[in-house]
Amino acid sequence: MASDSKVDRAPEVGVVFDAVVVGAGFAGLYMLHRLKGLGLRARVYEAGAGVGGTWYWNRYPGARCDVESMQYSFSFSPELDQEWSWKERYASQPEILAYAEHVAGRFGLYPHIRFETRVTGAAFDESAKCWQVVTERGDRVSAQHLIMAVGCLSATNRPHFVGVEDFQGPIYHTGEWPHGGVDFTGLRVGLIGTGSSAIQSIPIIAAQAKTLTVFQRTPNYSVPAWNTPTDPAEEKIVKADYPALRAKARARPTGFYFPFNTQSALEATPEERERQYEAFWARGGLPFLGAYGDLLFDKTANDTIADFARRKIRLIVRDPAVADLLCPDNVFGCKRLCVDTGYFEAYNLDHVNLVDVSKQPIERFTRTGIVANGAEYPCDAVVTATGFAAMTGSFDRIPITGRGGVMLAEKWRAGPRTYLGLATSGFPNFFMITGPGSPSVLASMIQAIEQHVDWMVDCIAHMRDVGARTIEPLLTHEDAWVEHVNEVAEVSLRSTCSSWYVGANIPGRPRVFMPYIGGFPVYVQKCNEVMSGGFEGFQMDVAPKADVPPKVRQTERWRAPLDIEVISPAMVAARRVPVV
Ligand code: FAD
Ligand code: NAP
Repeated sequence: MASDSKVDRAPEVGVVFDAVVVGAGFAGLYMLHRLKGLGLRARVYEAGAGVGGTWYWNRYPGARCDVESMQYSFSFSPELDQEWSWKERYASQPEILAYAEHVAGRFGLYPHIRFETRVTGAAFDESAKCWQVVTERGDRVSAQHLIMAVGCLSATNRPHFVGVEDFQGPIYHTGEWPHGGVDFTGLRVGLIGTGSSAIQSIPIIAAQAKTLTVFQRTPNYSVPAWNTPTDPAEEKIVKADYPALRAKARARPTGFYFPFNTQSALEATPEERERQYEAFWARGGLPFLGAYGDLLFDKTANDTIADFARRKIRLIVRDPAVADLLCPDNVFGCKRLCVDTGYFEAYNLDHVNLVDVSKQPIERFTRTGIVANGAEYPCDAVVTATGFAAMTGSFDRIPITGRGGVMLAEKWRAGPRTYLGLATSGFPNFFMITGPGSPSVLASMIQAIEQHVDWMVDCIAHMRDVGARTIEPLLTHEDAWVEHVNEVAEVSLRSTCSSWYVGANIPGRPRVFMPYIGGFPVYVQKCNEVMSGGFEGFQMDVAPKADVPPKVRQTERWRAPLDIEVISPAMVAARRVPVV
C-alpha cells in the first residue's frame, strides 16, 4: 500500500536530509531500515505507487522468482524469517510483492517514502559538500549522501518497430504490466522475445489466447522449475536453524545454496555425465549448472551440458522443425539461464506459432498485426518481453553531476567504472546498491543487496565517528578494480556471447561485462578487507584517525563462519566453481 499519492502532497523544498535513497525495491527498503537504525534522517523517492521494485512493475502472467523463496528473502531479521511463510518453492509475483509490503509496514518504512516521485536530477554541491536532488514533482532537497537503489533490471528496453504507432491494439511490456492484469481470452496475441520473462509468460498466455505467435530472435536454454507448494516439513527444518542456511548461502559464488559438484565434466564418462545431468535436471532450476565445476570455464565441458539440454528440448517438442528453432547453439548459461514451467510444451499446442526473426528482423507493425519474413501475422494485442537496459539503464536516465560538473553518463560512456561496484570517483558520498562491478545479478540479489547496504551503512557510521563530510574512491583503486572485473570476466565463457550482461541487447552500448564474476564470497572478503584496512582505496575529507578504527557493526555478519566451506580465490583460479 502506498503511503501517499500524487494529489495529496506539496513538494518538499529546501529540506535537508542525511540521505536520499532513490528506489523502494528491496534495496531501498533495507537501506531505509538501516539508516533509520543509525538515527539518520532519510527520504526515499520511488517512481512507482508502491514498494517492491521489480515485483511492483513485473506483473505479467507467470512472473515468479527463480531462486527458491526460502533463500530469495531478507536475512537480516530472525523474527521476519520465522514469521513469514512462503506458499511455494518459487513464489509468484503477488506473493513477493506482499512480502515487500509486509516488510515496509513491519519496519515502519512507509512514512519516509514518497511514491509516484521520479528523481529527475542530482548534482553534488562542492562547497556545501552535499547532493542537491530534484524530482518530477518539484521537490528540491539536499542530502549528505545520495544512495542509488534504482535496480539492475528496472529500465525497460522498448525497441522501436517500424509502424508501431499504427497498430490498433494494446502493446504491453512485461516490465510495466497493467495492475489489473490482462485478459487475453479469445485474442490473437503476438509476443516478442524469448528471455526469462517471455518463457514464464508464454505457457499462461497460450492457455488463454485464441492464437499466440512468438517472435524469436535468439533461442534460450531453459530448465524446468518443478515448482511445488512449500513442504511444511522442509520449512520446519529450515526454520529450526535458518542462520545455518543463510551462512551456507553466503559461502557460495551465487549467494544461494544448492548442492554442487566441483569435478570437471570432462573427467566423467559419458554414462556418468548423463546420470549426473539427469539428477540435476530432476532437481531443476538454476542449480542445474552446479552439475560440474568447469561448465562455465571450458567450452568442451559446456558442450556436454548444452547437448543434454538440446536433447531435452527435442524430446519435449513434437514438431522437429520447431524443436530445431528452439535449440540454442550458444554456450549453455552464457545468457542468463531461464527457468520454466511448461515452456517448451506450449509449442505442442496447435494455436501456438513460432516465428524465427534471427535472420531478418521484424519488418514492421501494421494496423492489425506484425510483418516478419514477408508474412503478416494478425494480432489483437502484442506483448513485448524485450527486457531491460540492464545495470546502468536507470542511472543513465537521471542527469547526475559530480565534482567539476562531470556527468555520470559521460564518465561511463565507454562502460561503467566503479570501485567494488559501491562507489565511483568524482562522485562523493554517492553509493550504488548492487552497482556495476559488484556480483549483483550473478548472485541471489537480496543477499547482494543486504551485503552492500550493511557495508555502506557501516561506512556512513564511520564517517560520523571521525567527523568526515565526504568519501569517494581513489581513481587508482577504481582503475585497478575495473581491470580486475574485466580480467575475471575473460576467464568465464559468460563473456563470450551477446547478452545483457555485456550490454549487447541495446544498440550502441559499449560491450563491457558489467557484473563482477569472481564469486560472492571472494567479493565479500575484498569488501571486508577494504573496511578493516581503514577504507583502503577511499579518500575522506579528514585525515585518517588511527584511534578510531572502523567498527564493523552490520558488516560483521558477512564474515563466513569457519566451519563453512567458502569458495576460495584458489578454486576460482583453478576454474572449478559452478557459477550460476
Ligand atoms: P528494483 O526492484 O528494480 O527497484 C528499483 C526501484 O527504483 C524501482 O521501483 C524503480 O521504480 C525505482 N527507480 C528507478 N529509477 C528511479 C528514479 N529516477 N526515481 C525514483 N525511483 C526510481 N533476482 C534474484 O536474485 N532472483 C530472482 O528470482 C529474480 N527474479 C527476477 C524476476 C524478474 C521478472 C526480474 C525483472 C528480475 C528478477 N530478479 C531476480 C532481479 C531483481 O531485480 C532483484 O532480485 C531485486 O528485486 C532488485 O531489487 P532492487 O531494489 O535492487 O531494484
Ligand atoms: P531478456 O532476457 O533481455 O530477453 C529479452 C528478449 O527479447 C530476448 O529474447 C531478445 O532477443 C528479445 N528482443 C529484444 N529486442 C528485440 C527485437 N528488437 N526483436 C526481436 N526480439 C527482441 O529480458 P527478460 O526476459 O525480461 O529478462 C531479463 C532478466 O530479468 C533475466 O535475464 C533475469 O535475470 C531476470 N528475470 C528473471 C526471471 C525469473 O525467472 N525469476 C523472470 C524474468 C526476468 P535476443 O536474445 O536476441 O536479444
